[in-house]
Formats: sequence, C-alpha cells, structure tokens
Amino acid sequence: MNDRPAARPADLVARLRATVRSGGTRPLARRTEQLGRLRALLTENAGALTDALAADLGKSAQESMRTEIDFVVREIDHTLAHLDAWLRPEPAPVPARLAGARARTQYDPLGVVLVIAPWNYPVQLLLAPVAGALAAGNTVVAKPSELAPATSAVLARLIPAYFAPDVVAVVEGGVPETTALLAERFDHVFYTGNGTVGRVVARAAAEHLTPVTLELGGKSPAFVDADADLAVVAERLVAGKFLNAGQTCVAPDYVLTDPGTARALEPLLAAAVEARYGADPAVSPAYSRIVDERHFDRLTALLGSGRTVVGGAHDRAGRYIAPTVLADVAPDSPVMREEIFGPILPIVEVPDLDAAIDFVNDRDKPLALYVFSGSAETRDRVAAETSSGGLGLGLPLAHLTVSDLPFGGVGESGTGSYHGRYSIEAFSHRKAVLEVPLG
Ligand code: NAD
Repeated sequence: MNDRPAARPADLVARLRATVRSGGTRPLARRTEQLGRLRALLTENAGALTDALAADLGKSAQESMRTEIDFVVREIDHTLAHLDAWLRPEPAPVPARLAGARARTQYDPLGVVLVIAPWNYPVQLLLAPVAGALAAGNTVVAKPSELAPATSAVLARLIPAYFAPDVVAVVEGGVPETTALLAERFDHVFYTGNGTVGRVVARAAAEHLTPVTLELGGKSPAFVDADADLAVVAERLVAGKFLNAGQTCVAPDYVLTDPGTARALEPLLAAAVEARYGADPAVSPAYSRIVDERHFDRLTALLGSGRTVVGGAHDRAGRYIAPTVLADVAPDSPVMREEIFGPILPIVEVPDLDAAIDFVNDRDKPLALYVFSGSAETRDRVAAETSSGGLGLGLPLAHLTVSDLPFGGVGESGTGSYHGRYSIEAFSHRKAVLEVPLG
C-alpha cells in the first residue's frame, strides 16, 4: 500500500476524466510515452514482481518472466511498432448522391477505463488491458486481485511511481472496494474473472450504459483424434494443462476422445508429467501452488471423480496438488460440472467425432477449444461446427500469445476481445465522420 490517503472513487474518476477532457491523452506521442512508462515499470522491477508472484502462486521466476512480464512487454512493443498505423483514419467510399463528400472513420478514446483483474496471472491480466487502454488514449483505474496480495501490493507501489495520478490510478481491495468503484460512471469496464462476478459487473455497468469487456472462463475441451501422434499430444497437453498448476483460463479443462485412444493416451500422459516435473512434482521448482485454501478444498473434492492415472497427492499446508490425470470420468461427475481451474485433467470418452462435436455444443461455449488431429477434414469440421472464444489446432494456449489475434470469449466465456489492434477496438469509439463541402 502506498502512504497517500485513498481518494474517494468519485474524486478519482473526476480527476481522470478531466485529463481526458483536456485532450492531453490523445496525441500519439503522449500515448507512446505512457506505454514507455509501463514498459519501464515492468523491466525495471522484474525482480520485485517475480518475487511477489512466487509468494502468491509459487511461480518460478522463469515462468513469471515468460507468462507475465515479458508477455506484457511484447504486447507493448508490438503496439509501439504499429500504433501509428492502427490509429490512422480510414477513408470510406461515399454513395453517388453525396458525390464530392469525403467519409472516414476515426478512433476516439472512450475516456476513463476501469480494469478489474483476477489472481491467476495477476500482472499480465492487469497490465495488458492497461496497455491497450493507454494506447487507445484513455485514463485508467487499475484494480488488482486481492487474492494475489503480494502482487497487488507491489503493483500498488509501482503504478504511482511510474504514472501521474491523473493518468493511471490503482485501487487495491476486494468486493467492497470494487463495488464502490462500480457505482461510478466509467466509459468502459474491462473485467477478467468468473461469470458470476461478470454478471455483477455487467449489471453495475448497465446502470450507466457503460460498455463492458468480459473476459471469463469455462471448460475448454481438448479433442484428441485416434490418428494423432499421441506422444506429442500428451507432451503438449501436460505443458498447457499444468502450467501455473492448471490455474490458466485457457488451460485444456478435459480431454475428449474415443475409448481406444484414451487407453493409449493414459501412460503417455503419465510419462509426460514425469518428464516435465520429475517423479515428485512437489519438489519441482517449475511447478506452482494453488492460490488459497478455498480453491485447494474445492479441487481436492474433485479428485474422486475418476480412476487416477497419475498424481492425486496433495498437501493442504503447502497448497500443493500434484499434476493429476483421471480416466473413466463420467460426463456428469463433479469434475465435469464446473470449470476445474486446477491441476486435474479428466479424460471423457465419446464414440467418435460426431459425438465429440455434440458434447461441445450441448454445453456452454468455451473460451478455448483444442483439436489434435492429423485430418484436415476433422479440423475443418470442428472449426465450422462449434463456437468457442478461440480454436487451437495442435497446441494449447499459444493462440493467446499471438498479438495479431483477438483474445476473448463468446457467450458464457465472455464478450469482447483484446490484444494488439483489437485492444484499440475495445478501448476506442470508432467515430463516423462525413465531410460535405459548403460551396
Ligand atoms: P478473482 O476472485 O480474483 O476475481 C476477479 C476480480 O473480481 C477481482 O479483482 C475481485 O476483486 C473482483 N470481484 C470479486 N467479487 C466481486 C464482486 N462481488 N463485485 C465486484 N468485483 C468482484 O478471480 P476469479 O474470478 O476466481 O478468476 C478465475 C476465473 O477467471 C476463472 O473462471 C477463469 O477462467 C477466469 N479467467 C479468465 C481469463 C480470460 O482472459 N478470459 C483470464 C483469467 C481468468
């Protein structure tokens, strides 16, 4: 916490709105300057940030650099390289009856943006949206997650050290503080987290007709075709699933495959876990911990949902749950009723591709859907016949690292998207301008 007395939310928003109204955030040079400050915050304080992430989630420094700090730095660098081109007004053709007129679209900043972040990637998921909001010429209130308290405290110390208080403000806290913020009129609210709170956020924003981006979660399936190279599939599933101990919004939630492939996959998944984390993942420096006891208890209650192929060990005091694969999992078992968001990978059997597609379409639209298949026809069928926030063919998680792809959900997994130029779309108003000569 910094020592300054906390400003009332209304005063905070008024101060940030005055900056936008002054026009100061609009010039390209001011936007790139703010992005440079954010870049410096990350690169000059990588040690403090990785220490905080280790305290909150047991993340290794290497993983924190890759998935949090360098991730946002790359996003900033990509934006700095292209922002000028992205912001250029786009001419539009005019109909014959308006011959002589000129039409264009231009991006206007929305104004004051509220970014509410979750605990699982507490640096990336706060600062990547902040980068987008600043690139689009807005001012920002950043609200880190109280469930990652060490990271929240470091960010609350660093943000005021790098940003003027009338450009980016940070507000720490949980439900009461966020509720108080949401009572104010923002020009955009960007929320990452679960769907229950997403509804709370959307309702509060609706009072002011404030647009929202909701980056939510859900169960992201991984369909494995019988023709796939199963050793490669196992290695990639394990890498994607057990990163950050499964606490990744786009982690493969469960495997969907036919019975024969399931049997063949089981020992390969066990071998891939051992290859990545050793015989005892509890002593692996690369393996994270569960964020708190509530989530630990929720997750250990799911361990009985199937036959344990590998893992199952857990230790409440250390918030440790081993990377676990469960086979023979019934579609209505507890582990299949909610997003797992932890290191448990159930294998659910379906007879064939048609049944897999039906299985996906019978449920909420996922944030990500993964397909491992050597058949272009199979990949094309899944792409055409299902709806998901993103589709990963052959490799989990990686689509969200491509800055030129929009990242977001659909239906229950969210609304809106960001990253790269899609952040400019998310945090700007695309204004229609028609110029008709007077003479
Ligand atoms: P969380 O508990 O940290 O909550 C997220 C934020 O909501 C926090 O800042 C918290 O203070 C705030 N909050 C909580 N209750 C609130 C209330 N009643 N009113 C207002 N604000 C409130 O994080 P979480 O929700 O446990 O995060 C996990 C979920 O987020 C999973 O479903 C995951 O899939 C999803 N997620 C999605 C993405 C994505 O990019 N789509 C990324 C990460 C996580």
